[in-house]
Amino acid sequence: MKSVDDLGDLRGKRVLVRCDLNVPLDGDQITDDGRIRASLPTLTKLREAGAKVIVLAHLGRPKGQVKPEFSLAPAAKRLAELLDTEVALAEDVVGPSATKITADLADGAVAMLENVRFEPGEESKDEAVRGELADKYAALGDVFVSDGFGVVHRKQASVYDLAARLPAAAGTLVFAEVEVLRRLTEEPARPYVVVLGGAKVSDKLAVIDNLIKTADTLAIGGGMVFTFLAAQGLEVGKSLLEEDQLETVKGYLEQAEQSGKRIVLPTDIVIAPEFKQDAPPTVVAAGAIPSDQLGLDIGPESGQAFAELIKDAKTVFWNGPMGVAEWESFAAGTKAVAQALTEVDGLSVVGGGDSAAAVRDLGFSDDDFSHISTGGGASLEYLEGKELPGLAVLEEKKD
Ligand code: ADP
Ligand code: MG
Repeated sequence: MKSVDDLGDLRGKRVLVRCDLNVPLDGDQITDDGRIRASLPTLTKLREAGAKVIVLAHLGRPKGQVKPEFSLAPAAKRLAELLDTEVALAEDVVGPSATKITADLADGAVAMLENVRFEPGEESKDEAVRGELADKYAALGDVFVSDGFGVVHRKQASVYDLAARLPAAAGTLVFAEVEVLRRLTEEPARPYVVVLGGAKVSDKLAVIDNLIKTADTLAIGGGMVFTFLAAQGLEVGKSLLEEDQLETVKGYLEQAEQSGKRIVLPTDIVIAPEFKQDAPPTVVAAGAIPSDQLGLDIGPESGQAFAELIKDAKTVFWNGPMGVAEWESFAAGTKAVAQALTEVDGLSVVGGGDSAAAVRDLGFSDDDFSHISTGGGASLEYLEGKELPGLAVLEEKKD
C-alpha cells in the first residue's frame, strides 16, 4: 500500500480522508473519544503538508436516511478541540453545503462532511449505486487517504469505491493496525494466547477456525462460552446459547485436542436470576448453573486462571469482554484479564469497540497495552484470513 509520503507534494491539494469517528454517545456527549484520538496523526501530517483536509466518516446506523441524532456534530466539535483548530462541518454529505465548504478551504485547514451513511448509496450492495455516490465524493477532492481502520472490511462507497477513483494511500492508523495484525499472524512470539469473549457469538465463532491453527491457547469467556459449555454436555440455564453452533463448537474442541492446542474454558461462573444491572450475583461451578439463572461473567477462579495463562505469554490478542463489564457486579472477569494483559512481557493487543471502551472504563490507560485496535470486526476478519476490501483496493493501486 502507498503511504501519505508516496502521494507527493500535497500543498494546496484537496485530500479526502476516510476516518473512523464512530464513537459511543450518550445523547450528544462522547463517552469514549479513542477513535477520534486515533485519527489525529494522519490529519496532523496532512495539515502540516499544507493539504486542504476533508474528513469523511460515519456514525451509527442511520441506514441511508438523514437522522439528526446521528449527526457528526459532536465528533466535529471534539476533533476541533483535539486539533486545536476550526473544523467546518457541512450540513450535507455531497450537496451544496459540502461543495461550498470544501471549495472555500484554506491550505492546512480541516472540513468534515456530514455522516456518509445519510446517503443510501454509501452501504448499497449495488456497485453502480455506490459508484454514483463515490463519483460525487471524488469530485470534492484530488487525492484519497484511507485511515478508517474500523471500516476497511466494508465494501462501501467512501471506503472501497472512492479509493478506486483517485490517487489513494493508506493513513498512518491503517498502517499501524495492519502492522500489528501481521505480527499476530506471521510468526508470533510464543506462547501465543488468544482470549475471546463478548456477545457477537456467531461472528466470533468463525475466527476460531483460523486462530486454532496459529495460537497455542484459546481462552474463552463472555457470552460465547455457554455454547462451549453446552457442547460439553453442561446445563447453561438461561445464558446466551447458539444451539445451531453446537456441532461446530464440538468440532473445535476435538480439533484442538488432536492438534495439541488448548481451549481453556472457565471452571466457575457468576450467575444471576435475570439480565439486570442490580440482579444479585452468585458464583457457581461451571457445571452447576441452575436452569432458571444465567451466566453474566466468568468466576474469580477462572479470572485468576486466565490471568496466569496471559501473564506467561509472549503474544496475546484479546477481543470481547469476559462478562457484562458495563455493570460492576459482572466486571471482575474482564478486569482480571485486562490487568493480566498489562503485565505481559511481549505483544498485548486489545481489539473491539466494547473491549476498548471497557478497559478505559475500568481505569486502564492506552499505554498499558502494546496496542488497542480501533476495529473489532476488521481485526477479526483479518485474523480469520479474509481479504479486507478496503485494504485490497489500496494494494491493487501499488504501481
Ligand atoms: P467487542 O465490541 O469488543 O467486539 P462485543 O460487541 O462482541 O465486543 O460484545 C460486547 C458485549 O458483550 C458487552 O456489551 C457485554 O455486556 C456483552 N457480554 C459479555 N458477556 C456476556 C454474557 N455472559 N451475557 C450477555 N452479554 C455479555
Ligand atoms: Mg461491540
